[in-house]
Amino acid sequence: MPRLLDNKKKLLEIIVCPICHKKLFLNLKKTKLICFIDKVFFPIKEGIPVLLKNSANKINKKL
Ligand SMILES: [Zn+2]
Repeated sequence: MPRLLDNKKKLLEIIVCPICHKKLFLNLKKTKLICFIDKVFFPIKEGIPVLLKNSANKINKKL
C-alpha cells in the first residue's frame, strides 16, 4: 500500500466526534463526517474536517 494512502487511513481512524469522542463516519460523497450517536454531521471544507462543537449540524433527513 502506498505510504500516502496509509497515512490517510490512519488520519481517518483518529478522527473522533468533539462531543462524544466516538468514531466519525464519512458520508458517501466524502463531504461530511457523521456522528450517529449525537445525530450530527461536521462539514469538510477544502478537504479539512471542521470538528468544532459549534459547527455540528443536526441530521434531520436521510443522508
Ligand atoms: Zn458524537
